[in-house]
Amino acid sequence: MKNNNLKLGYLYIIATPIGNFNDISKRALITLNKVDYILAEDTRKIGILLKFFNIKKKIYSYYEYNEKKKINFFLKKINQGYNIALVSDAGTPLINDPGYRIVQLCRTKYINIKIIPIPGPCAAILALSISGLPTNRFCYEGFLPHKKNKRIKRLNELKLENRTLILYESTHRILKCLYDIKKIFGKDRYIVFIKELTKKWESIYGNNISNLIKWLKLDVNRLKGEIVLVIKGYKESINSKDQLSPKVIQTFLKLKKELSIKKAIKITSDIFSIKKNLLYKFYIKKNTNYNNNKVE
Ligand code: SAM
Repeated sequence: MKNNNLKLGYLYIIATPIGNFNDISKRALITLNKVDYILAEDTRKIGILLKFFNIKKKIYSYYEYNEKKKINFFLKKINQGYNIALVSDAGTPLINDPGYRIVQLCRTKYINIKIIPIPGPCAAILALSISGLPTNRFCYEGFLPHKKNKRIKRLNELKLENRTLILYESTHRILKCLYDIKKIFGKDRYIVFIKELTKKWESIYGNNISNLIKWLKLDVNRLKGEIVLVIKGYKESINSKDQLSPKVIQTFLKLKKELSIKKAIKITSDIFSIKKNLLYKFYIKKNTNYNNNKVE
């Protein structure tokens, strides 16, 4: 229904269920019933949802590769006073789903267009809430890159992240990813495997990476479904007696490139509250190895 008393229409960003249709909000249903255009990545999937709730509306396909082409058409419609709803096939739009471009444009260029969010499920947040891992600080990374070398690079960047880490993964890549996570994060990192949230085969299993892989390989059905991994953040062992954590070493080596050894040691020891002596020993050992083996 066109906004007659207002110049512009609204852009509604509406979350949809991630499995159980009954998780849709009343407000989402009311809004979907009244808007002029519904945009969705997979018109068939949203068609099933709308049919379930007896909402008879045409759905317009809107996904990453046609977003650029269609964006002006829909922005024009909003400018003419029509209301538009952007929905996800499942979950919250823009969270590894289309919509970023239109929202960004409304925030930066078409600032008079009002964006109205209608909240609902998001697999990442739901998984985090039942993982048992710290929820006060977390880091959402979506899907890891598909290509192995890029995936390894990303994992190396995330290795020392001390917030709880949330990843999305698919059935056919999950084992490959877990092997890479094990290689980079170490076999003992605690990880929670959560799948099929709100659906019939909803399940959750937490263990260290080695045991999780073993558990998954016991039954191929365990690999099937939509998956979220929630990984315990990296924990420092900076005060252990004679071992320096990778983060301390990394900081020291970076500082050493820019400063004198003395200064690099002082600053590192101040940052991490560790004895300078430990860093001196590390430095001497590293240099001795270098001189003996001619490798860094
Ligand atoms: N926008 C969605 C959201 O808010 O969660 C995410 C869309 S992303 C394209 C799809 C991925 O989300 C799946 O591959 C899976 O990793 C995760 N996911 C979606 N639904 C899920 C569910 N019911 N249980 C577990 N993970 C789910």
